[in-house]
Amino acid sequence: MSTDTLTKRCYNFSAGPAVLPESVLEQIQSEITCLPGVGSSVLEISHRSPDFGAILNDAKTRFREVFAVPETHDVLFLQGGACLQNAMIPANLMIDPSQTGDYLVTGAWGKKSSAEVHRFGNLHVAWSGADDNFCRLPTAAEIQWSEQPAYAHFTSNETIHGLQFHAEPDVGDVPLVADMSSDVLCRPVDVSKYGLIYACAQKNSGVSGLTVVVIRKDLLERCSDRLPLYLNYAKHSAADSMANTPPTFAIYVLGLICKWLQEEIGGLEAMHQINREKSDLLYRVIDESNGFYTGHANPADRSIMNVVFTTPDAEHDAKFIELAAEAHMKTLKGHRSLGGIRASIYNAMPLEGVQALASFMKDFAQSHG
Ligand SMILES: *Cc1c(COP(=O)(O)O)cnc(C)c1O
Repeated sequence: MSTDTLTKRCYNFSAGPAVLPESVLEQIQSEITCLPGVGSSVLEISHRSPDFGAILNDAKTRFREVFAVPETHDVLFLQGGACLQNAMIPANLMIDPSQTGDYLVTGAWGKKSSAEVHRFGNLHVAWSGADDNFCRLPTAAEIQWSEQPAYAHFTSNETIHGLQFHAEPDVGDVPLVADMSSDVLCRPVDVSKYGLIYACAQKNSGVSGLTVVVIRKDLLERCSDRLPLYLNYAKHSAADSMANTPPTFAIYVLGLICKWLQEEIGGLEAMHQINREKSDLLYRVIDESNGFYTGHANPADRSIMNVVFTTPDAEHDAKFIELAAEAHMKTLKGHRSLGGIRASIYNAMPLEGVQALASFMKDFAQSHG
């Protein structure tokens, strides 16, 4: 292998941790030994120092601006991944174990979220797509909310199955909770419709170690003092995400990602436009392949972040993945639970990467169809 092949950046279709904007990586590289004006690396400074305080404040301010978070909501920077949120949500939002949490189980992630609820109260599955192998989302008429749930949870983008809600489910006055781990910042969202939004950072907003939680402030009153400090949203809110050492590097990267969205992309409307353009390219190849490619998701519920499909059989899938890797397009293997192919095309995936994949898909179908 030539040095060029070893060191050249590939098109990385990883589902997460995932591709980052090249300009963000370059800024990290240029500052990694010495932050301008600080004299140390961001990896070396105290989280209580004024220098880190400025970084935290900048990241939070930019996130609030880009995501248009209203004053009614607080933004928390936590650890433990989206996985810990699956437990923190019922632990904090259910006042006692007689309460119920409603869940839309639309894929592997919705299922995982719902699996924690029984530890704190009752689980009500308002709809499940398990019988259809999670290939579609519910219509409004199919959803059966319970009488008086403490909150209603859905997964805005099912990363493994490639399904994305294109509008919020309607639960009236019940606090709506969303796992936006794999599509936060991919499009504008009306945050005022939500009680709580959470997203781990390693898909669309930076690197692993950070989970962003956006919570409506009145819900903080539900958080019980019996909860351990780290599990209590109200404590994190009161301490401005500094109840303990926060994930400092990941917060720094989140700030750079938000700056990139603001200054290079031009905000979430523009980002959404680009994401639609990118995903349309791939779905068009699937739809025009005369049945060579089969998309997993019902067309109306297709994700603009994770494009999941198969070739005629597992052998062709494997060949596709192998030849794509030789052409410098990596990590296209579908999740182990589903097989097939998954192209994760998060915000930072450049249009050229998607164009290269679309063109590879056409060639592959022609030579193997
Ligand atoms: C990746 C992902 C997670 C993973 O959460 P971690 O605990 O940070 O590993 C959760 N939910 C969704 C929708 C995801 O895509």
